[in-house]
Amino acid sequence: MTDSSHSFSIEVIRARSTKQRVRAALFDFDGTLSLIREGWQNVMVPYFCEVLTEVADPNIETHDDIERVTRDFVDLITGKQTIYQCIRLAEEVKARGGTPLEPLLYKKEYLRRLQERIQNRVDLLSHRKAKPDDFVVPGGRQFLQILRDAGIKLYLASGTDEFYVKQEVELLKLTEYFDGGVYGAQDDYKTFSKAMVIDRLIKTNDLAGAELVGFGDGYVEIENVCAVGGYAVGVATNEANPNGTIDDWKRRRLLDAGASAIVPDFSAPQKLFDFIVNP
Ligand SMILES: [Mg+2]
Repeated sequence: MTDSSHSFSIEVIRARSTKQRVRAALFDFDGTLSLIREGWQNVMVPYFCEVLTEVADPNIETHDDIERVTRDFVDLITGKQTIYQCIRLAEEVKARGGTPLEPLLYKKEYLRRLQERIQNRVDLLSHRKAKPDDFVVPGGRQFLQILRDAGIKLYLASGTDEFYVKQEVELLKLTEYFDGGVYGAQDDYKTFSKAMVIDRLIKTNDLAGAELVGFGDGYVEIENVCAVGGYAVGVATNEANPNGTIDDWKRRRLLDAGASAIVPDFSAPQKLFDFIVNP
C-alpha cells in the first residue's frame, strides 16, 4: 500500500522543545494506526440521517441540511467513545420533537451495520488471507518498533469498545508494542476517556506533560495531549487510499484541534522519530 514514489514531509506548526526528552507516546487506533474500520463515517452518517429524517419537518430541513448537521456533530465528537455520538443523535431527535431511543440502541444498530462493512477485512486477517500490514497505516509498525527500541513507553487509547480494539490490535499483530497497555471504551462509558488514560499514564510514570507525544487523526486525542502540555502530531492519512497523500479535510480539523505537526502517515519512520525526539 505504500507508494514509495512520494516524498515524505512533515508540516511543522510548532517544533517540540528539546529540553524534555520523550518518555511516553500515546496513539489513537482507528485511522491513526488501523485501517480496519476505514469508512465508518459512511455507515454512521447515513444511519443517523435516516433516524433524523424520520422526525424532521421537510418544510424546515432538507435532506442536505440534515446531512450537514449530522456530519458536523459526528466529526466534532470523533475520537470520543461512540456512545457520545449516539447521545447527541438522541438529543437531535428530541430537538425535532421526536421520541429518541436509548443511545445504547443507536450504538448497537450502528455497530451492526459497521460490522457488515468490516467483517470481510476481519475475515481476511483472521484467515491469514491478508497480511496485517495491509491494514496498518504505512510505516506504523516500524515507527512503533523505533519508539520501543528507544525505550519510550507506548500506550494505545481508542473510542471504540475495548473488546474490539484489543481484538483488532491483535489481528494487526501490534499488541506487543504497547507495553503501557491498550485501552478502549467501556460499557459504563463514564469510566473511560482518553483524558483519563493520559492522566493515569502521567501519574504512573511520574511524567511531565512535555515528555508525552501523541499521535491521532481526531480532535479528541489532539486536544487532550495538548491540554497536558504534550506534543500532538496529527496523522492525516488518506484512509481509503493510503498512498502518502494528505487527507485535507482531516488536516484542517487536526490543525483546528491544535496539532503541532501534521504527517501523512509513518512511511519515513526514522525521519519522523528524529524530528520528534532529536529535533
Ligand atoms: Mg481515529
